[in-house]
Amino acid sequence: MAPDTLHGQDYADPALHAQGLYIAGEWLPGTGIPVVDPATGDLLAEVPDACTEQAMRAIDAAEAAAANWRSTPARQRAEILRRWFQLMTEHADELARLISLENGKALSDARGEVAYAAEFFRWYAEEAVRIPGEFRHAPSGAHHILVDHQPIGIAVLITPWNFPAAMATRKIGPALAAGCTVILKPASETPLTAYAMARLGAQAGVPPGVVNVLTSTQPAAITNAMLADPRVRKLSFTGSTGVGRVLLAEAAKTVVSCSMELGGNAPFLVFDDADLEAALDGAMVAKMRNAGEACTAANRFYVQSGIHDAFVAGLTKRMAALRVGAGTDKATEVGPMITTAAVAKLDRLVSAAVAQGARVHTGGKPLPGNGYFYPPTVLDKVPLDAEIAHAEIFGPVACVYRFEDEAEAIALANDTEYGLAAYVYSADLSRALRVGKGIESGMIAINRGLMSDPAAPFGGVKQSGLGREGGVTGILEFMEPKYFAVDF
Ligand code: NAD
Repeated sequence: MAPDTLHGQDYADPALHAQGLYIAGEWLPGTGIPVVDPATGDLLAEVPDACTEQAMRAIDAAEAAAANWRSTPARQRAEILRRWFQLMTEHADELARLISLENGKALSDARGEVAYAAEFFRWYAEEAVRIPGEFRHAPSGAHHILVDHQPIGIAVLITPWNFPAAMATRKIGPALAAGCTVILKPASETPLTAYAMARLGAQAGVPPGVVNVLTSTQPAAITNAMLADPRVRKLSFTGSTGVGRVLLAEAAKTVVSCSMELGGNAPFLVFDDADLEAALDGAMVAKMRNAGEACTAANRFYVQSGIHDAFVAGLTKRMAALRVGAGTDKATEVGPMITTAAVAKLDRLVSAAVAQGARVHTGGKPLPGNGYFYPPTVLDKVPLDAEIAHAEIFGPVACVYRFEDEAEAIALANDTEYGLAAYVYSADLSRALRVGKGIESGMIAINRGLMSDPAAPFGGVKQSGLGREGGVTGILEFMEPKYFAVDF
């Protein structure tokens, strides 16, 4: 079915998006990947399982579209992105329902994600027409230096399941704005949103082959084959640090440029002088957005002694009051985890911490039933050598630790191989900034529980990644500077 005949259809219908791989503007039918509703365990749809030959066809399509797309005037590329933003906004409710169905997140979270995701198209529509260049006089006086930023070439984009729309638009927006053509490989757990977005893109006027979408149960095989193809010049990956390392090694073989948005282990610091209610509000957002399945999720709460007990009591009250249920139920505040394996991991981490002396204030055991539910959980007295004190929890579990002074807080915050996000609550802004400067992290939120913004550079240091997405520099991840030495 041609995408442009779909206008007016219900974008929340999984069947609509299970019709094929999207290559060169065509839908290629197939089966092989079951998509499951994590709230019930029921089958929602089946999508095609791409093989390496189809991945090569996607590269052919991206190659065939590349010359035209890079020479399309920036204003025209911007207008297409802007229409895509508009279409996502018009279909926001349906997209949110679809995200909620396949990912499980509460509708309120899904609506927030659609707005955030669409904003990347609007932001990069505005950036497409402002791609910078550079002119300098050589200090020697010998010549002039001219720097032009050119599209890097075909980009392979790999995204995780936790933000199925936003992780895709955060890459597609700047790539298309830069003049690149792309192959998107979304996570197998949440492919329907990616296909829905591709349909909207086609309606917005994205030419065939500029955006191609492949789903596969053999991500390593198809990605390795694509990275080995010299036409692919960029890998932009969002996912776990473990997979990121494997991909960096693979990309090294052909020296493909890599942007890596990897795992996180965000510390959330609360000083004695913080506004307790504001800190609790922020803690709930930082911990519970997306049921804790976020790379920026507060993973370790460090609270100064004077405010510690009140913080634990307040957090417990709020976490225990949350309504857990199917994401598509309007009353739900916390949806299911993505898989049974995710629930089993939480159960293992919490049980081990309890066996080592941690105290459970609420939650602490998986919920019965067919869905993949784990309740909001608060622990304190967690030993610092417990696995949960260092692992990326990725679920609705908050561990609260005590600290005495600034130096200890910074040392605890930095006691991790990750460095993506951190949160600091204090009434003293100069202290908050000083502490923020001391924390090894790509992003610091001060007296706020949320930092993500398409206009800001998103990304991490240490083993949380390489490069930045969003903001004015995000587009440069998809461009190569070309230097001209000129005499005149
Ligand atoms: P994951 O690493 O298991 O998978 C991410 C994507 O990589 C999926 O599409 C998967 O199919 C694919 N993949 C897996 N193995 C591959 C291989 N060998 N070659 C090529 N592709 C492969 O991660 P996940 O479980 O989907 O997502 C959760 C992780 O993502 C967490 O660690 C989280 O912190 C991280 N994340 C980071 C950011 C960020 O911006 N830093 C944002 C969201 C999620």
